[in-house]
Amino acid sequence: MDKDKLWQQALGQLQIELTRSNYSLWFGKTFIKSLQKINDRQLVEVACQSSYAKNRLENQYLGQVSQILDKLTGVKNEVRFVVFAPALKLEEKPGPLFSYDDASEKKELFQSALARARLNSDFTFSNFAVASTNEMAYAAATTVAKQPGKSYNPLFLYGGVGVGKTHLMQAIGISVLTKNPLASILYVTSEEFMNEIIIAIRSKNTQNFKRKYRGVKLLLIDDIQFIAGKDTVQEEFFHTFNALKLTAGQMVMTSDRLPEQIDNLEDRLRSRFEGGLTIDIQEPNFELRTAILLIKAKQMGENLPIEAAKLISQKITSTRKLEGMLVRIISEKGYNRKELDLELVKKILEKTTGEIKLSKTKVTPDRIIRTVADFYQIRLPQIKGARRLKHIVLPRQMAIYILRSELGLPFAEIGRIFGGKDHTTIMHSNEKIKLLADSSAQIKEELANIRKRLV
Ligand code: ADP
Ligand code: MG
Repeated sequence: MDKDKLWQQALGQLQIELTRSNYSLWFGKTFIKSLQKINDRQLVEVACQSSYAKNRLENQYLGQVSQILDKLTGVKNEVRFVVFAPALKLEEKPGPLFSYDDASEKKELFQSALARARLNSDFTFSNFAVASTNEMAYAAATTVAKQPGKSYNPLFLYGGVGVGKTHLMQAIGISVLTKNPLASILYVTSEEFMNEIIIAIRSKNTQNFKRKYRGVKLLLIDDIQFIAGKDTVQEEFFHTFNALKLTAGQMVMTSDRLPEQIDNLEDRLRSRFEGGLTIDIQEPNFELRTAILLIKAKQMGENLPIEAAKLISQKITSTRKLEGMLVRIISEKGYNRKELDLELVKKILEKTTGEIKLSKTKVTPDRIIRTVADFYQIRLPQIKGARRLKHIVLPRQMAIYILRSELGLPFAEIGRIFGGKDHTTIMHSNEKIKLLADSSAQIKEELANIRKRLV
């Protein structure tokens, strides 16, 4: 398999396994730099953008990446991460993934601007399909992109999971950067934003934070609803908001609900949020789902017949699952070297409808916690409580890890579920099980068994 294709498939799998922010943070800018086959093994060099990313990838994701590659290629892969920063090494030609044939500096500038702004290059306006459920939001987003800071400020997009809020928000950033790669743009999840504020306050150094956020021309904050109930964070955000507004900095925010429906949000922030334009995006309908599938397939370099796309979008209504299914279909095709035709899609859909049906039994936070408590035979108040007895702490951490990995819940939200625990405590628990899941066979097995009970 060609190295870019292989990596695309591996990324597809990682996208399913990781939370969205971890995925884009650590894998958004990676590519395979070289592949070398030695006997029955394969040496794979995966390029990332900084030594910081390299460390993180090595410490946290090496096992996962190797496993995925092993599965995709059927041979043993030795993965090595290497730093490749296009902005610093103009003489070195990047792999075909970026397809700079002319190696133009402009493109390099653009790529590093994207990375700096933390934008995912796939989330463009041209990759965004428009239908009645999202046309208003699309129109507002393109207007803002044309004249940031001048029309709707802030632009507040809200809607359910997978309706395209993050995509549309990032498209604004990409569009502005395309016109001016030097524009100062920043995309953050509200979770990252909160972490930075907390660290700044704790280390008594809010200057850097202030400088970083208050100077930007376009600030994109994703899933702002999680700021609710965090008083210090709201306070700091309020000042940031005002400072940006004074310098005509554009703000775009997304949320899963209207500002007025966010509990524990300070009134002054709420009125700021409502001071611009508030628009909803609804669940994608059948046509839109089909269009999204066709776009995604094309991005992955595959030709998906429209009939096949229709069949998939009849069966699957969630956008996130659509993508998962597509990745699955493409990788099945990879094994058997078949064309991506209607027959193949039918077969795979049939094979998986059982699973799809099963996955419709909703996995809720509550169900996860109950299942874990049940598995370890402890009571619900114990697992949710604060006592630090050893036989309770581990199940609690397992539940936290599963909430994070299965539902992708932000740490702050998980903290709330566990009776108001600090999000750093939650983060720590999550990391701990993540490490154990790699190193301990027993934990691995327990996790698998709990997951089985959940489907
Ligand atoms: P949200 O942030 O609302 O939960 P995302 O923006 O993450 O949703 O979208 C989920 C996935 O669906 C992404 O891969 C995104 O590219 C895709 N998607 C959603 N809406 C559209 C659309 N209208 N056109 C193309 N892709 C879309
Ligand atoms: Mg989102």
